[in-house]
Amino acid sequence: MIDTLKKIFEIDSEELRLKKWIVPHKELYEKIKIKFDNETAELNTLLEKKNVLDKELRLLEDDITLLSELRKKEEKKLEVITSVKAAKAAETELLSISDKKNAIEEQMLEIMEKTEELEHTLHEKKLEVEKLGTEKKEAEDKLAEGEKNLSERYSKLDTEREELLGRLPIELSRRYKGIIESGIVPAIAIFKEDACQGCRVKLKQNMIAHLKANGHSTCDHCKRILISPFLTN
Ligand SMILES: [Zn+2]
Repeated sequence: MIDTLKKIFEIDSEELRLKKWIVPHKELYEKIKIKFDNETAELNTLLEKKNVLDKELRLLEDDITLLSELRKKEEKKLEVITSVKAAKAAETELLSISDKKNAIEEQMLEIMEKTEELEHTLHEKKLEVEKLGTEKKEAEDKLAEGEKNLSERYSKLDTEREELLGRLPIELSRRYKGIIESGIVPAIAIFKEDACQGCRVKLKQNMIAHLKANGHSTCDHCKRILISPFLTN
C-alpha cells in the first residue's frame, strides 16, 4: 500500500512538473504576440499617414490642373486684348497664377519628401512585422505541440493514477479524492526531517509513531496523506 501511495505521489509530482514546464512557453508566446500586435498597429498608423499624404498630393495636383486651365484662359484673353489696361490686368493675373502654382509645387515637393521618408520607415516596419509574424507562428506551433504532448501525457497519468487508486482501500482512495477536490495539490506529502514536506509543519511525536506503525498517516496541519520514503511494504 505504501508503494502504491508512493507511485501516486510520483504521478502527481510529474503532473505538477509538466504544468510548470509549459508556463515559459506560454509566456514566450504571449510576449511575442503582444509585440506583434503593437508593431502591426504601428504599421497601420503609418499606412494611414501615407494615405493622407497621397490624398493631399492628389488634391494639389488637381489645383495645378485648375491653375493651368486658368492660365490658358488668361493667355487667350491676351491674344484678343485691345486696351493697355486690360493687358496689364491679364498680365497681373498670369503672374498671380504663376506664384500660386510655384507655392503649390513647393508644397507638393515637401509632401513627396515626407512620403519618401515614410516609405522608408514603412518598409522597415513591414520587415519587422514579417519577422515577428514568423516568430509568433513558431512560438504558437511549439506551444500547440507542447500542449498536445501534455494532454496525451496527462491522460496516461490519469489512467495510471486511477489504476493505482483502485488498489488502495476504498476509504483511503476516497480521502485522496476529497483532498484534491478541496484544492490541496498534491494530496500526498513526504514525511522527512520530522516534518510534512507539503506544509513544512513538524509532526507531533505520537503522529510520527502512528506513521511509523501504520506506514502512512495524515498531516494534522494540511490534511495531506503522509508517507515516509524510508518505509515500504
Ligand atoms: Zn502538512
